[in-house]
Amino acid sequence: MQHDNKKYAAHLSGMVQCPTVSTVDPENLPLEAFFQLHKYLEETYPLIHKTLTKEVMGKAGLVYHWKGTGKSGKLPVLVCAHQDVVPEGDHSKWKYPPFSGHIDEEGMLWGRGCGDCKATMLAELEAVEALIADGFVPDFDIYMAFGYNEEIMGGPGAACQIISDEFKARGLRFGLVLDEGGGIMNMNGSKVAMIFASEKGYADHEFWVEDGGGHAAMPPEHNALGKLGKAMYDLEANPMEPKLTAPVIQMFKSQAAITPSPMKELFADPEGNWEQLKAICAGNKMLNTYIRTTTTPTMAQGSAQANILPEKATVVTNSRILPGETLEDLEAHFKAVLPEYVHFRLLKGHNPPAVSTTDSPAYRLLAKLAKDMHGEDVHVLPALVFGGTDSRYYCDMSDSVYRYVGGANSGKGGGAHAVNECLDTNTLDTFVEFFVRVFREYATAE
Ligand SMILES: [Zn+2]
Repeated sequence: MQHDNKKYAAHLSGMVQCPTVSTVDPENLPLEAFFQLHKYLEETYPLIHKTLTKEVMGKAGLVYHWKGTGKSGKLPVLVCAHQDVVPEGDHSKWKYPPFSGHIDEEGMLWGRGCGDCKATMLAELEAVEALIADGFVPDFDIYMAFGYNEEIMGGPGAACQIISDEFKARGLRFGLVLDEGGGIMNMNGSKVAMIFASEKGYADHEFWVEDGGGHAAMPPEHNALGKLGKAMYDLEANPMEPKLTAPVIQMFKSQAAITPSPMKELFADPEGNWEQLKAICAGNKMLNTYIRTTTTPTMAQGSAQANILPEKATVVTNSRILPGETLEDLEAHFKAVLPEYVHFRLLKGHNPPAVSTTDSPAYRLLAKLAKDMHGEDVHVLPALVFGGTDSRYYCDMSDSVYRYVGGANSGKGGGAHAVNECLDTNTLDTFVEFFVRVFREYATAE
């Protein structure tokens, strides 16, 4: 298939120019920006809007359905992305205005959301538009679902909850679900296809201690904020027990092939080397996330003024729950570590979604495409992602949910959630081609 990165870049720029910032308060969602994006997609992808059915679900969720012939007998495929972006931050720190979608001489595109995750949405849409133009008719159904509040972890009124409830009401199941996540990357000098088959759960808790308050000139030995500070220190000092879980054992074993000694030997047999591995992981921020549920305090509040003792001190923590553990396990741990005068409540959270299989025709198709497109030497790595994605809402409708987009970044872009988010548009074709091949080859994947 012929690709035109200049055209893709122009389309992506148009998408970035719609300031679709998701807001914690759903009432403040800038709906006009989302509708501006919908209109832009209608103008940019005329064949999709002629051939597929489009539904708006919830406030601004987009669901497209391409009805196939059904000849393959395969379950439908769902590809996802989120329309929303995080706030742009300090405008004065941006090299180009955050919603300009500016493309420089080297083909770098600048703007909030270009990488996270409008490029994924672009690749999926371009692939379908190109296939229609090519006369392709799928032998199975294809769905595209684009939510609008991924960046605030969904919460009440999560777009993809509404969409997945609707899918369930229609009795849908999927043979493959793809969402934002890994691609082809460089790891220890090897080319790696990072296929995220599992993800951690999530929880925000509020902790508080109440106290008499009063004049700060006459303080008690420990006031509410002091006690709560100690409680947070204790939570850090007493994390949940490390654990080796099935998806991480599989990831470590696979990673052994591309890891230098001495970690190579440890990864090759994580269970046999658990005592040693456990100690190494505990001392490494990145590895630690793979072996335990983590909790860290992120926000705090005391009294309203420097000379007033707090009557109530509050702290908000953020936890990431290992597959195999639950919100209940986490809260039992809080109770075991903390004294009774420290209270807590769940603000928002969800258990880890089901772990997807790496033994399915869909997974084998992704592995095959990685090698076909990027070389036999690509190492396919099934991995755990510790951030959250919208794909979790579909994990009970498919055993093959992968946070994977199959293209190769040049490594030049970056800045997701920071100022100066940018993306190298010279490799957009590899992402579009990936989705084209998925749709072309899924029907015959074994
Ligand atoms: Zn994202």
